[in-house]
Amino acid sequence: MTDFITDLEQISHLAAQHHDDFEVMRYLLQLDDELDDAVLDQFVEAVAEPVIAGIDCKLCANCCRSLDVYVTPEDAQRLAPVVDIPLEAIIEHEAAATVEEWGRLRAKPCRFLDGNLCSIYAHRPETCRTYPVFTPDFRWTLVDTIEGATLCPIIYNVLVRLLDRIDAFLKEQGK
Ligand code: SF4
Ligand code: SF4
Repeated sequence: MTDFITDLEQISHLAAQHHDDFEVMRYLLQLDDELDDAVLDQFVEAVAEPVIAGIDCKLCANCCRSLDVYVTPEDAQRLAPVVDIPLEAIIEHEAAATVEEWGRLRAKPCRFLDGNLCSIYAHRPETCRTYPVFTPDFRWTLVDTIEGATLCPIIYNVLVRLLDRIDAFLKEQGK
C-alpha cells in the first residue's frame, strides 16, 4: 500500500493548487549559482525512483490520451513494418520539416492506444519510452515538468515529494 495519489481528477486539481509552490521551488533552484546540477539530478532521481516503481502506467495511460507524440526518423522506421497504412497518414510534419525530420502523431488520443495499453509497445516512439523525464538538467527543464504535473500522476507525486524535501537537501548542500 502506497500513499501515491493516482486519481486523475484529483491530480489535476491538486497540481493546480500546488502550482505556485512548484514555481517557487523552480525559482529557488534556478537562482542558486553554486548548486551542482549533477548532485541535484541525483537527488531528484532518488526521489523519483520509488514513485516510478510504485505507479502502474497500465492503469493510467493519460499521457497517451493527452500529449503530442513526437516521432523521429528512427521511430518512423520502427513503425513502418507494423502499421498497415502509409506513415504520412498517421504522422504530420511542421511546415518547414521534411519526412527526414521530426514529425508528430496526428491523432490524440494516440491511435495505437488500446484500452490503457500500447498496441505497438515494442515499436513505440522513443519519447514514449522515456516519458516522464526528470533529468538531466532537472532545474532547467522544470518549467515543462511542472506543466505535466496536472496530467501525470508520476510527475505530480515526484514534485510534491520534492517540495517536502528540497529545503533539507539545500541545507545539506550548505545553503
Ligand atoms: S507516464 Fe504518467 S501520465 Fe503516462 S501513464 Fe504513466 S502515470 Fe500516467
Ligand atoms: S505509441 Fe503507444 S506509448 Fe506512445 S502514445 Fe501511443 S499508445 Fe502511448
